[in-house]
Amino acid sequence: MKKCIVCGAKFFEKPLLEFDDMPRSAQNIPNESELNQDTGMTLRLYQCRGCGLVQFDCDPVNYYKDVIRSGGFTTTMVNLRKSQYSHLIEKYHLEKRKFLEVGCGQGEFLSILKEFPVEAYGIENKQELVDKAVSQGLNVFQGFVGDDKAVVQNGPYDVFLSFNFFEHQPDPNGMLQGIYNNLTDDGMGLITVPSLEYILEHNGYYELIHDHLVYYTFDTLRFVLEKNGFEVLEEEMINRDTLSMIVRKKAKINVLKIQDSYGQICKQVNDYVDGKRKEGKKVAFWGASHQGFTLAATAKLGGKIEYIIDSAPFKQGRFAPASHIPIISPEKAVSQMVDAIIIAAPGYTDEIAGIIQEKYGNEVEIAVMKTKELELYEDIKK
Ligand SMILES: [Zn+2]
Repeated sequence: MKKCIVCGAKFFEKPLLEFDDMPRSAQNIPNESELNQDTGMTLRLYQCRGCGLVQFDCDPVNYYKDVIRSGGFTTTMVNLRKSQYSHLIEKYHLEKRKFLEVGCGQGEFLSILKEFPVEAYGIENKQELVDKAVSQGLNVFQGFVGDDKAVVQNGPYDVFLSFNFFEHQPDPNGMLQGIYNNLTDDGMGLITVPSLEYILEHNGYYELIHDHLVYYTFDTLRFVLEKNGFEVLEEEMINRDTLSMIVRKKAKINVLKIQDSYGQICKQVNDYVDGKRKEGKKVAFWGASHQGFTLAATAKLGGKIEYIIDSAPFKQGRFAPASHIPIISPEKAVSQMVDAIIIAAPGYTDEIAGIIQEKYGNEVEIAVMKTKELELYEDIKK
């Protein structure tokens, strides 16, 4: 049994729908001499039980890489594109940026984009359509963005556009990965596909056609976009029957401060321990926790501090991983008392400080490892 083309999960066992005598395609329609070779086909519509995507289980039509727009230039469509372009460009300040229409046909929608203050480019698989677009003065390259290795000339681009092309694709992840790789780091996109919600609402089985391999909903379109590294900024139903989403590449999380804290904390702990050792004093840790282990190991405290105290019997008698500092019980520490204890157990500071003062007296200095720095317990309590 075939698997979901987006997430690889299995389909629900039975097809949602099955229709015989469906046309094999909506393009390349037969002439009189081809009629004896043209037959109908059975189409089975399945739903993925993982991501919920609704899709046919058959191969795509053989021209799925081409964008053949029969609709032409209706006033409604021209006005729709104009309002989409102006919203996108104004809201996200995309003036002077480089736009790429992926699957631009003969440049029907690119020619409208040319009226806006942006650089407009397109890529189209079918040479005949590329030639027509170029002859109208449009910047259109021949090619197909079908996988993560696709390189579009003149890239990277700031914005991609995809108008009712994505639903034809047998490898939606491949196309989105290819687009992703040809975009700048904060690259954006505008994508439209026919809406399954619309078909469900109008019960129109005749909306189903082999050319449209996949039937996206808001949920499943958002899912495939997010799966491929995009975040959906806006989503809406346009022209009654079409899903439209504005996306941007997800940003990398900024870990600069965590990286900085590594150097700072290691230095602080070492300065403190070294200072005590110069005075002939001994230092220990309290807390054989993952925080204590990491701190002791990365700050290279093995051999510099005496031991790590922990109340958990199953840790006592063992050694801290990587730093190999011995772990002992609070009772055992009494017989080999240190001069200072660093508490490395976030969340239990007060409780542990109380135990130290009670068991070992007020002579022992207590230091606390806070999120960003080492502080003396007496200073925190002031
Ligand atoms: Zn799926």
